[in-house]
Amino acid sequence: MITAVRTPESLAAAVGHAAAGGRLMAGGTVVMAQVNSGSLGYTEIVSLRRAGLGGITLDGPLARVGATTTLTEVEQSPDLAFLRGAMRGLASPTIRNQATVGGNLFVPQPYGDLAVCLLALDATVEVTGPDGSREVPVGVVLANGVAPGEVVTAVRLAVPAPGTWFHHKAMRRRLNSAAIVAVAAVVDTAGGVVTSARIALGGVAPRPVRAVSAESVLIGRPLESEVLERAGRAARADISPSDDSYASAWYRARVLPVHLRRAFLRQP
Ligand SMILES: Cc1cc2nc3c(=O)[nH]c(=O)nc-3n(C[C@H](O)[C@H](O)[C@H](O)COP(=O)(O)OP(=O)(O)OC[C@H]3O[C@@H](n4cnc5c(N)ncnc54)[C@H](O)[C@@H]3O)c2cc1C
Repeated sequence: MITAVRTPESLAAAVGHAAAGGRLMAGGTVVMAQVNSGSLGYTEIVSLRRAGLGGITLDGPLARVGATTTLTEVEQSPDLAFLRGAMRGLASPTIRNQATVGGNLFVPQPYGDLAVCLLALDATVEVTGPDGSREVPVGVVLANGVAPGEVVTAVRLAVPAPGTWFHHKAMRRRLNSAAIVAVAAVVDTAGGVVTSARIALGGVAPRPVRAVSAESVLIGRPLESEVLERAGRAARADISPSDDSYASAWYRARVLPVHLRRAFLRQP
């Protein structure tokens, strides 16, 4: 049973309440469902709504996105226009108005669509806790979470150069559907062949994963159908999918090459 809802007006106060055992809540799209079902496992909620952690700033190609920035704000930001397609495939406008960037890092797969993008972007996560602040690669946060009492304050990323960002999410319906397979990638080419590739996958493992086997196939080769087909098959070595109400593990592995190819050929 919830006995207290704190709404701290500073980061320091939020950290204090979290360190004292409160459960952080940002948009509440996941936490409130846990409250309603009685599965939260905490008696105190610490809302980050007024902690001053929102907003998007751009410094050259480097963007800093506050943890409580909503996904609608990301979607509508001219500075993050490359993420617009990914945001429009995430949940629904109603959910995106509440859901936050920080919260997306902690939702279980096959959710975490923005987290998949942030992994492909090699984003850095800013975290503050009772012992101070630290910066952590997003992959580490996705693998280990943060310590009790720590609050994610922002993510930082480099906006990809035009033409180097790729994204595709396969889902059952247009609204409120988690990923069957999600692909996000930053790929550089020169002279018609791939010179660097960072591919992240969602929906196919307990957390967003890098498709390092697919990346190796792409390096030194053109982004053409036959190469992409091979890369997609290679990516099966990087996944450990599960069955859920959206798709079976078998189906996810089966269709992965199709969706990886669609991501790079920019096919719907
Ligand atoms: C109908 C429906 C459809 C959905 N569809 C999708 C979808 O397609 N794709 C998708 O990715 N997600 C989806 N979601 C899940 C969810 O809405 C989003 O992932 C959202 O980004 C979660 O953010 P939030 O702010 O609401 O998180 P909250 O519910 O507030 O928190 C989620 C978790 O993150 C922790 N947390 C939140 N902020 C911080 C912080 N700053 N520091 C440390 N910990 C923090 C909380 O303690 C909690 O454990 C869906 C949810 C619903 C209800």
